[in-house]
Amino acid sequence: MKYLLVLLVVVVGLWLMLRPRRSRPAPPARPAPPPAAPADMVACARCDLRLPRGDALFDAEGRPYCDDAHRRAGPR
Ligand SMILES: [Zn+2]
Repeated sequence: MKYLLVLLVVVVGLWLMLRPRRSRPAPPARPAPPPAAPADMVACARCDLRLPRGDALFDAEGRPYCDDAHRRAGPR
């Protein structure tokens, strides 16, 4: 009787290991998002730091600066 129980455990274990696994359905293939447009970078007229145009401060002549101190200091 003891061996029958061991055999049952072994059979159930093998069945669990060998049964075909239900693979998860693959998520629907979505087209890759278009690569982000490279940010338009500008260089600070004072220290030459590169920063996105949106983060830059511009003086009256349209020169970009990284911060207000450099904008006040003016170009090199
Ligand atoms: Zn700067």
